Amino acid sequence: MESNFIKTIMEEDLKSGKVNEIVTRFPPEPSAYLHIGHARAIVMNFELANNFDGKTNLRFDDTNPSNEDKSFVEAIKRDIEWLGYKPAKVLFGSDYFDVSYKLAKKLIEKGLAYVCDLNADQMREYRGTLKTPGKESPYRKRSIEENLELFSQMKAGKFKDGEKTLRAKIDMASPNMNMRDPVIYRIMHIEHQNTGKDWCIYPMYDFAHPIQDALEGITHSLCSLEYDDHRVLYDWFVEKCEMEHVPHQYEFGRLNITNTIMSKRYLKMLVEANKVNGFDDPRMPTLAGLKRRGFTKESIKDFIISTGLSRVNSTVSSEMLENSLRNDLNYKVKRAHGVINPLKVTITNYPKDEIEWIEVPYNPQNEALGSRKIAFGKNVYIEREDFIEHKPNKKWKRLALGIEVRLMRAYFIKCNEVIKDKSGKIIELLCTYDPETKSGSGFKDRKPNGNIHFVEATTSKKANFNLFEPLLIDSDDKKDLFERLNPNSWLSSTGYIEKALENTKPEDKFQFIRKGYFTTDFESTKDNIIINRTVELKSRFK
Ligand code: ATP
Ligand code: MG
Repeated sequence: MESNFIKTIMEEDLKSGKVNEIVTRFPPEPSAYLHIGHARAIVMNFELANNFDGKTNLRFDDTNPSNEDKSFVEAIKRDIEWLGYKPAKVLFGSDYFDVSYKLAKKLIEKGLAYVCDLNADQMREYRGTLKTPGKESPYRKRSIEENLELFSQMKAGKFKDGEKTLRAKIDMASPNMNMRDPVIYRIMHIEHQNTGKDWCIYPMYDFAHPIQDALEGITHSLCSLEYDDHRVLYDWFVEKCEMEHVPHQYEFGRLNITNTIMSKRYLKMLVEANKVNGFDDPRMPTLAGLKRRGFTKESIKDFIISTGLSRVNSTVSSEMLENSLRNDLNYKVKRAHGVINPLKVTITNYPKDEIEWIEVPYNPQNEALGSRKIAFGKNVYIEREDFIEHKPNKKWKRLALGIEVRLMRAYFIKCNEVIKDKSGKIIELLCTYDPETKSGSGFKDRKPNGNIHFVEATTSKKANFNLFEPLLIDSDDKKDLFERLNPNSWLSSTGYIEKALENTKPEDKFQFIRKGYFTTDFESTKDNIIINRTVELKSRFK
């Protein structure tokens, strides 16, 4: 991994003896699936720790039960495993509810926390603004005894949601709003995904997080930039709770990608409104969606690492992610023939019922992938878009009436007749082939008008192709999310793949020549082959 500012800090901390080892953590809230932005936090936490032979914990930040669900816990674990990372420990914020409660009591005993009766609106009003100082709560002067008693009543369920909170007693005039007596415990009569009905008070993230980091011996607590001005509060809790180990927080810039929704809340809205087929819809920027679409973990890691790590938020082009995949798969995968939008071609001078097989290497750039035989016969399919009735100009390097092209790896064919249905739609081409042109070799003076791919009709297998365009077409993020959705983000077609791929299994990847990189879908079976296009061969943007 190349150098970045956090790596430098870690090197210095190890050198100066400030820390003896590097311990990081990834703290997702189990409130949705992980997206590609999270991958930056995952890859950086694990790779940085690995780089120094350190450790990384996975800790679910489950302190707000109203958002969270076990299914998300499982999905997040799967995604991290898929990326190839193994957490040193898998923990839950809720594992620390007892300790947090005790530490909150300790703050009360030290005169550093109090039970407050202000409701949310009043609290907002008392808090002041960036320009004006806040006002002290009338409950701030409660005695330690009264606070301890009320806090234990809060825990015992004596009060309704929102009726009371526990707040840190810091400084209502602080220029940092986070220091104006932040809430550290709130009442929520909601069942928790991990602790069930054990608790009806829950610690706030700002209080729970530093304590958990301290208890786990985290040395470098990495988070995104928006926590910058929470760091003083983080340090305050570690100090006032007298934590033995002192962790430190470091902030890095968030990753954004053009035309990509990078917020769990919005992704959840799309799923809940059935605008997509679940969190692992291949159009979703979730790790599960990208995997289903066909992205490899290597391409995702390569992409994340190539975007670097800095102290500013960054927006990178979605093209970069696609390029990482193309680079990863170029040598790795077989190149095969698939016809997505088939047009039937009959070779009128080819003997009926005869099939010949032509040996073709799978990837001329990688011999290790071996070879297979492709079929040629009287009936073949070509791509509909590779034919036009009348050749429009010199640039047209594909088939047209009266024109000769090479069928890749097979023969030259010439189109002599076009058959249409009643509506005028072309349904079949009648062509002749030249037996002298096998494999297209040795014809110096006779240049075909292009080189197009095909599959033989009787030996190929039917396949359902899913083709994707970006989910969002409008980058104006002030507009309503649903209005920005691309109505053509998912196009399906039924085509054919060459026989050699007939036993394709979910997650198989290949390049279909001229058409892109493809991956067989999770739901594909022998009788119902489903293939997702992961990316086209060339960027759409060029
Ligand atoms: P969202 O804003 O999508 O709801 P979040 O930050 O609330 O995400 P968490 O589950 O709290 O989601 O995130 C876990 C970790 O991932 C945090 O440390 C957070 O900073 C980091 N993270 C989330 N999104 C990004 C992003 N786009 N780029 C970098 N890190 C991110
Ligand atoms: Mg968050």
